[in-house]
Amino acid sequence: MLPENIPLSIMLQTLKTYFGYDSFRPLQEDIIRHILAGKDTLVLMPTGGGKSICYQLPALLREGTAVVVSPLISLMKDQVEALCSNGVAAGALNSSNDETENAALRRACMEGKLKLLYISPEKLIAEAGYLLRDMHISLFAIDEAHCISQWGHDFRPEYAQLGLLHQQFPEVPIIALTATADKITREDIIKQLQLNQPRIFISSFDRPNLSLAVKRGYQQKEKTKTILDFIARHPGESGIIYCMSRSKTESVAQMLQKQGIRAAVYHASLSSARRDEAQDDFINDRVQVVCATIAFGMGIDKSNVRWVIHYNLPKSIESFYQEIGRAGRDGMPSDTLLFYSLADLILLTKFATESGQKNINIEKLQRMQQYAEADICRRRILLSYFGETADHDCGNCDVCKNPPERFDGTIIVQKALSAIARSNQQIGTGVLVDILRGNMSAEVTDKGYQHLKTFGAGREVPARDWHDYLLQMLQLGYFKIAYNENNHLKITSIGNDILFGRTSAQLVVIRHEEPATNKRARKQKAPAPVRELPLGLPNTENEDLFEALRQLRKRLADEEALPAYIVLSDKVLHLLSTSRPTTIEEFGNISGIGEYKKKKYGKEFIQLIQKYV
Ligand code: ADP
Ligand code: ZN
Repeated sequence: MLPENIPLSIMLQTLKTYFGYDSFRPLQEDIIRHILAGKDTLVLMPTGGGKSICYQLPALLREGTAVVVSPLISLMKDQVEALCSNGVAAGALNSSNDETENAALRRACMEGKLKLLYISPEKLIAEAGYLLRDMHISLFAIDEAHCISQWGHDFRPEYAQLGLLHQQFPEVPIIALTATADKITREDIIKQLQLNQPRIFISSFDRPNLSLAVKRGYQQKEKTKTILDFIARHPGESGIIYCMSRSKTESVAQMLQKQGIRAAVYHASLSSARRDEAQDDFINDRVQVVCATIAFGMGIDKSNVRWVIHYNLPKSIESFYQEIGRAGRDGMPSDTLLFYSLADLILLTKFATESGQKNINIEKLQRMQQYAEADICRRRILLSYFGETADHDCGNCDVCKNPPERFDGTIIVQKALSAIARSNQQIGTGVLVDILRGNMSAEVTDKGYQHLKTFGAGREVPARDWHDYLLQMLQLGYFKIAYNENNHLKITSIGNDILFGRTSAQLVVIRHEEPATNKRARKQKAPAPVRELPLGLPNTENEDLFEALRQLRKRLADEEALPAYIVLSDKVLHLLSTSRPTTIEEFGNISGIGEYKKKKYGKEFIQLIQKYV
C-alpha cells in the first residue's frame, strides 16, 4: 500500500498506540497525509500547537529513518527522551555524545533500526556525503525552521547550508516547522531550503489555555507582593519570571529564595555551564522558578510550565507571545501576568530610538503598549497582531473577566496637570508623585517645590495609584513625555482643556486585590480545568490524590533520571485524578497514555489510585 493511501483508522491507531491520543488536532491529519504522499510541507503552528506529531507520525508510518534537524542539544534530548518513553526507537547524533554512543547510533542508522534520528545542522552537513548516504531516509524534518532566516530572531548560520538537502536527496520530502509566523521568514524558509512547491499549513495562533493579565503602574514593592501572592496560588508549580536586566533577575531570585521558594537565575553573562545547570534544574523540578532575561527559553520544551510573569514590559508583541508561549504546552490552564510601568516604557523608548531601526522598533513598542493599555479583550489584540480576527471575546483575560469601570476623574487629572504646570513642565513622573503626595524628597527640596500650591494636594491618593493614573493620562493624551529632555512631562492641548475646566476626564477605577496571605488562600489552586476534561468525566478533582500521583511520578522520574513531565504530563495526572481508573485497561484509555506507558506504569498508578476510591 502506498503511504498516502493509508486509511485514517491506521493513522489513528498509530497515534493511540504510541502517543495515547484518540484524535488529531486541526491540520495534523492533512499535514501528515501530505508528507506521507512525499510532498514538501511548511508548518506554522504556535508553541504547544502539536508540531512534533506532524513529522513523528509519518516517520512511524513510512519505511526508513526520519532525519530531524534541531538547533539545540537540549531540544533534541527532550524529544528523544519523550519518544523513547513512548516506545519509539529514536536517537540524537550530536557533539555531546561520546565516541561509543555515536558508533552505536551510526550502526543502528545503517541497519535501519531507528525510526527517528535527531541531528544538529553542523553534523547533518558533515554527514551528508557519508552516514546519510548509507541510510534509508524516510523524510527530513527541519525543526525551528525560522533559524534559517536572517530576518528572524534566532538566526543560525549553520541552517543556511540546509539548501543542499534537496540537491543531494531530491526524492526525500522535507517538512519545515516553526512557530514564527511572519511572511518574510516564511518566504525565506521556502527559498533557503529550496522547497519544491510546498504546501503551507498555518494554524491558529490562539492559545486559549493561557490566561492574560496586566498590572499597571506597580512599583517594586507592589510587584514583589503581587509575585509572592501569585506564586502562593501556584504552589509547587513551575514558572518563569522574565526581567529586563541581569541585575533584576538576580535580585528577584534572591527575594524569592528568602521566602523559601527555590529559584534560579539565567542570563547571557553566566557561564554556559551555569546556564545549563539552571535549565536542567528547572526541567527536572529541582527549582520551581527561573528568573531570566530573554535569553532563556529556546532550549526549553518543558510541557508543565504553569505560569509566566513579565517583571518588565517586553519590547514587542512577538517577544511577549513567544515568552508567554512557554507556559501550558500541555494544553492545561496556565497563567500569565505582565507588569506595565512608565519607567519601562521610557527606557524601552530610549533603546528603540537608539537602535539602528528606530521606526520599526518604536512601532513594535507601540503595539506592545497598546496591548498593555487595552480596555478591550487582550487576546483580540494579540490575535489581530498575528493577522487573525477573533469573532468573540476570550473570557480568559483580565479585561474580559473584569471590564474596566470609569469614573469622573477630572479633579485627579487637574491636580496632576496643575503640579506639572506650576513646576514649569520641568519634572518627570517620580518628582510629580512626590509633589502630589507631599514628600520632602531631595529633588523636591532642591528645587523648592514644597512651596508650590499643589504640594501635597494629592495626599489622599496612594503613590501606586498615582502611577496608574499617570499611565492612564498618558494613554489619554493629556501629557507627553519629552524623551530628549530628561523625560519631563509636557501638557498637551487636550490636557490644557481639562486643566482649565473646559472638558472633563474619565479614568478607569483601580481595583485592589485581596492578598492571598492566609493559609487557606495560599492553598487555593487554579480552578479545575473543566473545559479540558473529556465528556462524561467528573470534574471534581481529588487534590490529595493529585499530590500523591505527582509524588509517584517524581519517584519514577528520578529512578530513570528523566524529567517528570516526560514520564506523564500534568494533563494526564489531572485526568487520572478525576477519572480514577482502577484497571490497566482503563488506565490505557486515558488520553496521552500509549501502549508502552500503559505496560510500564499502569500497575503502580492504579495501585495508588485504588487507595483513594
Ligand atoms: P510544539 O512542538 O508545536 O510546540 P508539541 O508537539 O510539543 O508542540 O505538542 C504540544 C503538546 O500537545 C504535547 O504535549 C503533545 O503531546 C500534545 N499533542 C499533540 N498532538 C496532540 C493530539 N492530537 N491530541 C492531544 N494532544 C496532542
Ligand atoms: Zn479576553
